[in-house]
Amino acid sequence: MTRAGRGAGGRAGVGGAEGAGAFDAPGGAEGTGACDPSGGAGHPGAARQAGGAPERAAEEELPGPPELIDQHCHSVLAVDLADEELAGLLTESDRPPAPGTSPFDSALGLAVRRWCPPALGLPAHAPVAEYLARRRELGAREATRRLLAAAGTDTCLIDTGLTRAVGRPLLPPEEFAALSGARVREVVRLEVIAETVAPVAGSGAGGWPAAVREVVGAAVEAGAVALKSVLAYRHGLDIPAERPTDREVVAAAGARLREGTGRLTDPVLLRHLLWTALDACGESRLPLQLHTGFGDPDLTLHRADPSLLAGFIRAAEPSGVPLVLLHGYPYHRQAAWLAQAFPQVYADLGLTASYVGPQVAAVLGEMLELAPFGKLLFSTDGYGLPELHLVGAAQFRHALGALLATWRADGACSASDVTRIGRLLSADNARRIYRL
Ligand SMILES: [Zn+2]
Repeated sequence: MTRAGRGAGGRAGVGGAEGAGAFDAPGGAEGTGACDPSGGAGHPGAARQAGGAPERAAEEELPGPPELIDQHCHSVLAVDLADEELAGLLTESDRPPAPGTSPFDSALGLAVRRWCPPALGLPAHAPVAEYLARRRELGAREATRRLLAAAGTDTCLIDTGLTRAVGRPLLPPEEFAALSGARVREVVRLEVIAETVAPVAGSGAGGWPAAVREVVGAAVEAGAVALKSVLAYRHGLDIPAERPTDREVVAAAGARLREGTGRLTDPVLLRHLLWTALDACGESRLPLQLHTGFGDPDLTLHRADPSLLAGFIRAAEPSGVPLVLLHGYPYHRQAAWLAQAFPQVYADLGLTASYVGPQVAAVLGEMLELAPFGKLLFSTDGYGLPELHLVGAAQFRHALGALLATWRADGACSASDVTRIGRLLSADNARRIYRL
């Protein structure tokens, strides 16, 4: 659901390397993380790390950190939070942590302490208490500004379906844009707008399909850059492939309208909403994002496996609508296969890349085992805390740089391949499918 950056301090890696990954954080990254065995690939030290075979010419061709388009994130809070409230936004669980620990005691917590303290003028890995004290000293607004600026993201596609975190309102997208310096576009969450559909006088349940078409159409008209489904949360991705019949939809709408409004969980209405969104996306050439993989305890994990969508994906293929599978973990390999198998399927590692902390390059590597380079997109899924936007961006840059360094060192690709792959994943794929 739920995440930028100075590099970690320049401690030597396992192999004694010192260079940053090819795409480590902008504005002053100087070294790899302590655990980076590759030592990083790219500039400025890339060629030096490539298997001990310096290639000066290639080194000169290596890019700076590529432009980043965050294709799925949420807005943030810019108000002071109690320490437990802040820590509570570093987990997908709404339950307590193990006794004597906090959510900082996690792979994500390590990533926050790796990438965020330098943005607030502290060394990487500063103790949590020092970090929180520095954040308070700066004030939430200034800390938020610094963290978002350090993420170095050029464009953020914000899912506006979540409007609050720890009971407080998130910044409206235009304030997020002003504070971060990033361009902002809106992604509209389908279930939230469908829940505003109420009984229409004189039409009753029979008016449901048209009313849903209307709210979805209005979101597109208002400038949404994509629509997003949380079907995985509301039912599960195990749905029949076909579009439901009008009769089924009206019967299900009748039951919903009799019970009153509230959370939309009926599988027929959810499937109808998905097909209505597909129609709207097809007409307006917008992508449709779908939550897949892990999330908060509302989710039944095995029903969020994106391969459960294969029937729907086949049925939706003629529409040509790009279907973007978000998050993925632990089914990111399934998402990668779907992205290879079907021309309209894309995937990202938002949320996952932050939560897996030191393992991020390994997980990205698993994704790139099958996902074609034109099909994987960068996102942070940052939500609530600006730390999560910085961590998402820094983790992605670092992982991509470290992974491509090992590929180069192994002779698997050239410096120009590193540049091209970096650009595709960081921004070019998103620019193409969202027509930015
Ligand atoms: Zn999200």
